[in-house]
Amino acid sequence: DQSICAPLPVLGADVAVPLVTGGEVTYAALDYAASAPALQRVWDDVAAYAPYYGSVHRGAGYLSQLSTDLFESSRVTVAEFLGCREDDQVVFTRSTTDSLNLLAAALPAGCEVFVFETEHHASLLPWRDARVTYLDAPRTPEQAVATLERALAARASSPDSRPRPGEAGTGSPALVCVTGASNVTGELWPVKELAAAARAHGARIVLDAAQLAPHHPVDIAELDVDWVAFSGHKLYAPFGSGVLAGRTDWLRDAEPYLAGGGASRKVARRADGGVDVEWHTTAARHEAGSPNVIGVYSIAAACKALTEAGFDRLVAREQQLVTRVREGLAGVPQVTVLSLFGDDAPRVGVISFVVEGWNSSHFAAALSAEYGIGVRDGLFCAHPLVRTLLGSEPQDPGECGAPEAAPGERSLNAIRVSFGAGTPDEHVERFLGAVR
Ligand code: PMP
Repeated sequence: DQSICAPLPVLGADVAVPLVTGGEVTYAALDYAASAPALQRVWDDVAAYAPYYGSVHRGAGYLSQLSTDLFESSRVTVAEFLGCREDDQVVFTRSTTDSLNLLAAALPAGCEVFVFETEHHASLLPWRDARVTYLDAPRTPEQAVATLERALAARASSPDSRPRPGEAGTGSPALVCVTGASNVTGELWPVKELAAAARAHGARIVLDAAQLAPHHPVDIAELDVDWVAFSGHKLYAPFGSGVLAGRTDWLRDAEPYLAGGGASRKVARRADGGVDVEWHTTAARHEAGSPNVIGVYSIAAACKALTEAGFDRLVAREQQLVTRVREGLAGVPQVTVLSLFGDDAPRVGVISFVVEGWNSSHFAAALSAEYGIGVRDGLFCAHPLVRTLLGSEPQDPGECGAPEAAPGERSLNAIRVSFGAGTPDEHVERFLGAVR
């Protein structure tokens, strides 16, 4: 099939790990949702750049200039990858968590935030200084849109958010935060419809694309979202860098996220002994300190590698694996796959399940020790969602976030298998064989 490509070469594909049963096996990395292996191509690009490594925006030397050019052209690459509008801005951060905390720190005064309880903690929790409405878990994409519509409509009629005299629009600002693909079920959320609902009620919307961007093209203009956040280490680049891309106004009007060099355009001592600071109004405003040039460059390299490999073909291959895993798990009667929107809901290569009679932590440990397969178990930093899916009560998650279920009890946590570009068929077959 011409539309399906071979797995892209990734780092770690030939790492051998010991088995408790003796011998070794190549490691099957099936925990892409936590951190995906870096693409070999990204690693090669970074290695090719390494000799030219220099400080950014700070040196007159040739290598500094070259690094500055690569750093700034990485913004353009990311903007193109995300289909940014002309006046959008790409801010480099440390991660999705950092990006969403940056946006939370930039909310205008009186901003209300609307977020589903099903979000990853990175998109659920940063809004602690705002008035937050937590929306109940929907059971269909249509219900998600209706729930948001209702909450935004109630806001429009609440006394605090009516326009004040002389003020345009619906009154106080509001922000909706939603994930594009769940890190637990892999299910796709109706982002475009939620964005339209937000727009209709004068609210802004930020897309947590940590799980969407590595598995599916994201087009900020087409989705009509205001901001997109994602992490390099889930998008086949190494750790340490992330992106917040989108509208400039809230970010330009906010206090700098970090104060320091790089964010300040002019600093002068005042006659009264104090200090006056003029901050940058560009992305640099929120990028104080020496930036993670390698991290930023590797994100751009990953964006290019995915585009050049043909993202649609990668998606098609991943969907083949999704079907294979779903069918394989469906054939094991003791397995229940977790789903909010139903078994047939479209999803990326992220699938969580429980196995009757098994503690999920023990199951994941056995996959590792006996088969060399790396998956994740636990509540996946989405405690309310996993409890809704498992129908369990809040428990003390313990040190590793994975509470023990007594034998015969309902699972308190789940097992997550996740994959993407670079996953060979053999890993998926080994996983299904092990589960069986
Ligand atoms: N959002 C989602 C949906 C995620 O899956 C994750 C990572 N598990 C994050 C946000 C946070 O990403 P990071 O740890 O890179 O900040």
